[in-house]
Amino acid sequence: MLRSIATLILILHVSAFGQGTPVALDLAVEAAGPYDTANWATRVNNANLIDLLSTNSISSPVLAPGNPLGWALANFYRLRWNRAVNRLGTPFAGSTSKLRLTHLYSSSWIIENSGLTWGIDVVEGPFGNYGFAGSITMTEVFAMANKLDALFVTHSDSDHLSTSLAVAMLLLGKPVICSIDLGAVALALGAPPSLVEIPRTGYRGVLTANGLIKYSVYNGKQRVGTPTVVDCNAYAFDTNTGQTIIHGGDVEDPGFATHIMSANWYADFLLNPSTSYVPHNYQFLSHELEYTHFGSALLKLNMPTVGPCPPSRFVLIWGEAVEF
Ligand SMILES: [Zn+2]
Repeated sequence: MLRSIATLILILHVSAFGQGTPVALDLAVEAAGPYDTANWATRVNNANLIDLLSTNSISSPVLAPGNPLGWALANFYRLRWNRAVNRLGTPFAGSTSKLRLTHLYSSSWIIENSGLTWGIDVVEGPFGNYGFAGSITMTEVFAMANKLDALFVTHSDSDHLSTSLAVAMLLLGKPVICSIDLGAVALALGAPPSLVEIPRTGYRGVLTANGLIKYSVYNGKQRVGTPTVVDCNAYAFDTNTGQTIIHGGDVEDPGFATHIMSANWYADFLLNPSTSYVPHNYQFLSHELEYTHFGSALLKLNMPTVGPCPPSRFVLIWGEAVEF
C-alpha cells in the first residue's frame, strides 16, 4: 500500500515536470557522486527515485510495457549512457588513478586501464524494445563502439548481450569475445571469424589496435537456465597496473568455485554479485533495475543512509565511474 502511494505520487511528480524530469534527475545524480558524503542525502534521494521509476516488483518484469514511467527511465538511461561515452578516453580525474570503472544498465561495465578501454556485457537496455520514446539510438550505440577496444559478453541473456553493440563492434573491425553457444550462433549468422573469439577455459589475451587485454575465462553455467549446458563465461582481467577484476556473468555452477581456487583467481574488484563467494576487496552492485531475472536476482539500489557505500556493496548509478 505504501509503495503504491509512493508510486502514485511519483507518477504525479513526473507528470508535473514532464519531459524535463530525466534531465533534472541526471543533473541531480551528477551533483552527488559516489564519494560525495557531504551530499549523501541527495544521493539517497536520487537512488530512491530511480528505484520508484523502475516500478521494480520482484515477481514481474520491471519494465513491462504497462510501466507508465518507462519513458522517463528510458530518457534518463540515454542521458547517462551519453555521459559515460563522453567520459571514455578522457584523462582520469585523479593524478594517481590507474583504473576507471564505469557502470551502466544491469551488468554493464566498462574498464579503462593503460590506454585500453573494454566493455563487459554493455547493453542499451530493454527500453527501445518496449518502444519507449527517447531510448538509445543506433548512432549512440556506435558512439559507444567507437570508444571500446573490445567487447566481452558473458552470455546471451538480453540484460548481458546487446546484438546492436556486438554488430557495431564487428562492423568497426573490433573483437567480440563471447560464450561458446553465443559464438556458434554468431559465426552461423556470418560474423567474421577473425573478430569473434570463443575462448575455452584458460588464460589468454585479445590483441586490439591499442594493445593487449589480458584475461582468463571460465566456461560455466547460469544460475537460471538449463543446468547441463555450458552457456555462460566468467572473465578475470589482469590490468597492466596490477589490479585484477572479475566479471562473473551469471555463472553459478559449483565448478566455478573449484576453478577459482585452483586457478587462484583473486579479484581486487568484483563486478557481479552472483559470484559473491569470490575473494575480493570491492564488490559492486549489478543486476539492479533489470528485467530478465526474477526473484532474488533482482536488486534495488537501496543506498546506505550514511555514505560512502561499503566496499562489500558499492553502488554506482548508471553512467557513474570510480577510479582506483
Ligand atoms: Zn543476468
